[in-house]
Formats: sequence, C-alpha cells, structure tokens
Amino acid sequence: MLTVEGLNAGAAAYLRRALLVAGAGLLAMVLGMVVAMARDVPDDNAMMILVFTQIPTLVLVFGGLPLIEVVAMRDTRVCCPYCRRSLITNRHLVIATRNCPYCGRRVLIEPEEPVVPSVSNAPPTD
Ligand SMILES: [Zn+2]
Repeated sequence: MLTVEGLNAGAAAYLRRALLVAGAGLLAMVLGMVVAMARDVPDDNAMMILVFTQIPTLVLVFGGLPLIEVVAMRDTRVCCPYCRRSLITNRHLVIATRNCPYCGRRVLIEPEEPVVPSVSNAPPTD
C-alpha cells in the first residue's frame, strides 16, 4: 500500500525532473538560436547552423522525457502495486478515492487521525 505523502513526494520528484529536462531543452534551443544569429555567421550558413544547433534540444525532449517516464515507472511510490501503472497523472483522483483509477483496487492507506488534545489535558487559561 502507498501513502499520500509518498505519492506526493514521487510526483514532485517527477515534476522536478520533467521541468529540468524541459528547461535544459529550452536553454539549448535559445543557445542554438543565439549562435545561429551571431553577426559573423553568413546568412546562408545561419539556417544550417540553426538546424544543427537544435539537435541537442530534440535529443533532450525526445530522449529525456521518455527516460523520465521510465524512471517514474520504477518508482514504487507512484505506481499501482497491482497493475504497475503510473498514478502521477491521476494523483488527485487517487488521493480522493484511495483507489487505482485503472484496476480499481485500493492503493492508498488511510492517513492516521490527527491527535486532538482533550480538554482535561489542556493547560489552564487565565
Ligand atoms: Zn492498478
């Protein structure tokens, strides 16, 4: 059984990795454009440089994002223990129902009840 805290932590780690890959891809794209638009590059070569400098962006996006999915599928905090499907995209539904949206089995344990101090143990008030 999974915990809400574990599911949230796993989803946050997934989001951090996805943002890192997307940010690196964006940075590579901008750097490629800056190189291609440099003043000393002839216009006929600028398009070729622009195309080749976008290769790191394509590798990051089309290679990095599927890799993040593979890593997420191995994270036991975010996968259904029964059908092994990722619960990240349906995280809020899973937390609300405690069940896997794919196989319907219960995957989250109930959170512990918060401890409420009784009136007799409360410090005296003036
Ligand atoms: Zn399932």
